[in-house]
This record gives sequence, C-alpha cells and structure tokens, in this order.
Amino acid sequence: MPSPDPRPRGSAGPLTELYDVALLDLDGVVYLQEEPIPEAAAALNAARAAGMRLEFVTNNASRRAPEVAALLARVGVAADPVEVVTSAQAAAALLAERLAPGSAVLVVGGDALAGELTDVGLRAVRSADDDPLAVVQGYTAETGWRQLAEATIAIRAGALWIASNGDATFPSPRGPLPGNGALVAAVATATGRSPDEIVGKPHPRLHQESVRRSGAQRPLVVGDRLDTDIEGAINGDCDSLLVLTGVTTPADLIAAGPRQRPDYLAADLRGILEPHPTPTLVPGGAECRGWTVTADAGELRLGGQGLPIDALRALCAAAWSVGSGAEKIVADGPEAESAVAGLSL
Ligand SMILES: [Mg+2]
Repeated sequence: MPSPDPRPRGSAGPLTELYDVALLDLDGVVYLQEEPIPEAAAALNAARAAGMRLEFVTNNASRRAPEVAALLARVGVAADPVEVVTSAQAAAALLAERLAPGSAVLVVGGDALAGELTDVGLRAVRSADDDPLAVVQGYTAETGWRQLAEATIAIRAGALWIASNGDATFPSPRGPLPGNGALVAAVATATGRSPDEIVGKPHPRLHQESVRRSGAQRPLVVGDRLDTDIEGAINGDCDSLLVLTGVTTPADLIAAGPRQRPDYLAADLRGILEPHPTPTLVPGGAECRGWTVTADAGELRLGGQGLPIDALRALCAAAWSVGSGAEKIVADGPEAESAVAGLSL
C-alpha cells in the first residue's frame, strides 16, 4: 500500500520560500575537504539573498568555528562563526553538564576539540595517567596508535566515553577516507565497550543545538549522507534535502531504508533555490515529469524522457512505495538509457 506521505515530495515554490533556516552539512555539500563544490557558494549566496538563514552544522570535530567560517570564506561563502555548530562544541557542552568544573578529560582528537573543552571549564589531558573522568574522541588526521592506547586504558579504568560522531568515513577528492567512527571502532574492539554517547548526526544533540541557536521555525536539513544527515533529520522530525555532491550515489538513494529517505533530492545545492516536482504514485510504480517507472519481478523499468534528476525522483518514488529498493534498473528506450547511464545506475 502506498505511503500516505510519499517521498520524494514536491514543493509549490522554491525551498527558500518554504523553510526559514537551512541546517547545512559541509563536507560533501559546500566543499570536499578544502575544495569548493561547483555551484554551492553561488546557491548559498542566492538563498541568503532570498531571505533564508544559514546554519553550518558539522560532525567534523577537527576545526573550531572561526576556522570553519574562514574555510567557508575561502570557498566563497560568507559565514559568521556564530552560524557554525560543530560536534566538538556539542561534545564539550555535554561533558560540562556531566562533570564538575576543572575535571580532567582525555582528548583523542585535535587542538580544536581540546580548545572547546577549555572553553567550557574542563581540563584537557593527553595521558590516561592524568586520571581523566572522561574520554572525548573526535577526528583529527594526527590520531595514531598511542592516542587510541591512552583512550583504551582510561575507558578500561571506567572513564565516561563520548564520541563527537560515528561517521565511518568522510568524503575526499580521492574517495571515502576513514572517519571518526572507524577510530572509535578500533577502541571499541580493544575495550569491548561502545561510547556512552555519540553527539553528532544522526543522534539528536547536535541538531537540537543548531535549531536552538538559530531559533528556526521551519528548518530544512541539507546533507549528502543518508545515515547521518537524513536519518538525523528524521530523528529530529525535520524535513530534508539530499544533494548528490558527496558520498551518496543515485543507487544508494534508490536502496535507502525508510529511516534514511529525504523529502527532496537534487544534484547539487541549486536544488534549494528551485520548486521540486511532485512524483505521482500510479498502480505498480510512479511518474515524475515525463518519466514512468514500473516495479515488477525484481525490476524497476524506466521509460519516458526528461531530466535525469526527475528520472531519479521517479525511481525513488517507485522503489520506496511499491518496490523492495533492491531491484535491477532496466531502461526502456534511448532517453531512459541515457538517463540511467548519467546517474551511473
Ligand atoms: Mg557530509
């Protein structure tokens, strides 16, 4: 039976008119590591000009807010540091709630993470011999075996364990690289324990902090990852836009489970400036702006013509409503073959 609220959804006007604040993921959305993503800066500047406020929300714990704002400026996006919310800030805020002022916290991460702890009145230490009451773990490229060993010793001695985020990977121009979740997994394997709390997306704390700070009434989460940005939006009861400039491929999107399906999808951030077509559910499939998809016997059969992104919208609508999400994609005709090839399906 079709869902009463099928996704992806349409919008009568541009998303900038329907939502007051965009809660933007950074890596894979605005930039790839330090390289600008084409069209992103112009789209964000246009969104601001249209009256939408921007909040930059990152699971990355390796930079402080002013550094993130400076990096945004280098890729062409003017941002005030107060518009930046990092998982390191959220982790420090959580530890300040749980521990007495001046308590020692073992940092497995960079100086940015240590600086956030100092700012909330905690004492950042680097050795388990300093008797830390907690371990905070956030990504930095400098983390090696020695830091993981200190964390293992402290956690085995009973320290509270907070992770900035659980991302298995982050995107790079050379493909996905090991993220904080991969390093957390090493410590989990060594200790037989899991972190007591993970603050980053898809967990609610970072997201709640962004909504609280911005005072958003109708926030729109914008991200490139299904298992952090989109699942986090759904966990926070927020609408979401998935952009295909980061780690998620069209095939991943079609196969997404119910907790990881965005409201809207777009090739890049220009999707925030546009109205979105509404896919229509039809018996056994879906249609979207010139395309028809039929789910049958383990196949999603695409026919018609139009823009490749609308073909993807029709494929997602069909896979998410009547399909299993694991079907083979079959193209009917040269236009459909071209769209399927363009989407790398
Ligand atoms: Mg991302």
